[in-house]
Amino acid sequence: MKGDAKSMVVKNKDEIAIMREANQIVAETLIEVKKHVEPGVTTWELDKIAEDICVSKKVRPAFKGYRGFPASLCVSVNEQVVHGIPSRKCKLKKGDIISIDFGVEYQGYFGDSAITLPVGKIDPETQRLLDVTRTSLELAIAEVKVGNRIGDISAAVQRYVEDSGFSVVRQFVGHGIGAALHEGPEIPNFVQDDRSPRIIEGLVLAIEPMVNMGTHKVKVLKDGWTVITADRKPSAHFEHSVAVTAAGPVILSSRESFE
Ligand code: MG
Ligand code: MG
Repeated sequence: MKGDAKSMVVKNKDEIAIMREANQIVAETLIEVKKHVEPGVTTWELDKIAEDICVSKKVRPAFKGYRGFPASLCVSVNEQVVHGIPSRKCKLKKGDIISIDFGVEYQGYFGDSAITLPVGKIDPETQRLLDVTRTSLELAIAEVKVGNRIGDISAAVQRYVEDSGFSVVRQFVGHGIGAALHEGPEIPNFVQDDRSPRIIEGLVLAIEPMVNMGTHKVKVLKDGWTVITADRKPSAHFEHSVAVTAAGPVILSSRESFE
């Protein structure tokens, strides 16, 4: 999601520890929802699963009510890029892809992460779109070093995605995260002309490449939320919340302990 220009906020170790807990709840929820992604399930049912976990873990789903967004998950199917609204009418079928974006507020801090999943067997080019997008996030995270610039993250994503024959979305960007869901800096997935901010210790960055199979251009549907590709070709989205430490990047939303 894109906010207004916001300032960067450095976190101490205790704050980062809380943010790790928040993001681990996000990671566990994504894995739980993933188990239910199969032909025939509705995106509304997936949203209920996430919502129930929020209730049981006593966390607030971060997106619900955000500027009026009506659900806990953003679910974006096929040509939908981001911010799709869960619906009883949207039943997944074999060959679809679904991006699931989820965030929570826990003890005053936010977690935010996203994955894109195949529904049953998908065609090889769409699988490559998912693989390239996931790898572009890994390459981006490798640039999270004190002294680098945000533009190093942007360049890593753009170079790999475009070399792979796909395009990066311009209109929506990653963001700092902390006691607010969206803090500075903005983290574009493409290189801009101006000099971007230096990466400093204590920032937490929500890095989220959105990658389209065709044109990078997108538009927003009449519901005011759902972003789709202008050419209706598929789009993928992966996101991690990553802490900047002196020892390097720490992926707070890592799903390792749940997979
Ligand atoms: Mg997100
Ligand atoms: Mg985000």
